[in-house]
Amino acid sequence: MIIQFNQVEDAQKAQKVAIAAKKIAFVHQDRVAYPQISQISEIPNYDAKKVKKVYEKHPTYVKSSRLFHPEDTIIRTPHSKIGGNNFTLMAGPDSIESAAHVLKMAQAVHEIGGTVLRGGSFKPRTSPYTFQGLGEEGLKFHREAADKVGMDMVTEIMDSRDVDLVSKYTDIFQVGARNMQNFSLLKALSTQNKPILLKRGMAATIDDLLNAAEYLAAGGNDQIILVERGIRTFDNKYTRNTFDVGAIPVLKQLTHYPIIGDPSHAAGFSELVTPIALAACAAGVQGLIIEIHDHPKQAFVDGRQALTPDQLKILNDKAQAIHQLLS
Ligand code: PEP
Ligand code: MN
Repeated sequence: MIIQFNQVEDAQKAQKVAIAAKKIAFVHQDRVAYPQISQISEIPNYDAKKVKKVYEKHPTYVKSSRLFHPEDTIIRTPHSKIGGNNFTLMAGPDSIESAAHVLKMAQAVHEIGGTVLRGGSFKPRTSPYTFQGLGEEGLKFHREAADKVGMDMVTEIMDSRDVDLVSKYTDIFQVGARNMQNFSLLKALSTQNKPILLKRGMAATIDDLLNAAEYLAAGGNDQIILVERGIRTFDNKYTRNTFDVGAIPVLKQLTHYPIIGDPSHAAGFSELVTPIALAACAAGVQGLIIEIHDHPKQAFVDGRQALTPDQLKILNDKAQAIHQLLS
């Protein structure tokens, strides 16, 4: 149940009363959400005179829903504003390979206008015999590169036991597609005071993605960035995944979190990255996350889908133009 009050103060009081009565209740401005209550009679000290509107029907991802939080969430990191009318370029190598390489990639992305430097040091690989990432050493190289050029850092965390370690270095935690429903990882991250970039699982519905986001929000972390990165469909011969372009306007209707497009993992092939990225922009993403490499053939991971810095510049110019046109 979501109750919209006439006065913000009444909403705040109602939440306190509910918590004192051991009910889960969240407040946002003039609205209180009671995720486990479906009857008005169960709301402690309910006073109809103070109420503007009752939303009996709402999704289970109540805090993530626009019914509870109508305006866009804007996430502020040291170098970026993510969400709302902002367009954020995040880019970098798939994996941190060396200090010199990540610095070179950081300089290239920064020059193009990117503000978030991506790169994995804990890699979710299909085979245990392939490169697994540099671990803490990679986090250090990544942090140093981001600091040297003045960018934010985003890196994947795969295990709830690594929260303190990764938090020592990163500005934004990435939860990868394979861990989108790793609920113990989500619960561990829900108490962190840093944004989470949550990627849609390759077999996850839109509601699955939003319920995963709700695990973060329920625990207190509503600095959430959602990423459409392609889902598995019956055809993966020519693209690695199927970029669900329709999910973007749907997500923008359902939730207030920023939506970012990842065309790299959807495409799987560098020549498809730009068209898919531009489709994502036309559908309304608030930013892109792109894999780059100066020598894609030599990349440790995902080289076939990496753009060169020159290709990223061309993509970004077109993406910015589409964003301008639509805003
Ligand atoms: C990545 O960002 O390199 C990655 C592994 O992405 P995903 O979780 O979307 O497959
Ligand atoms: Mn990758």
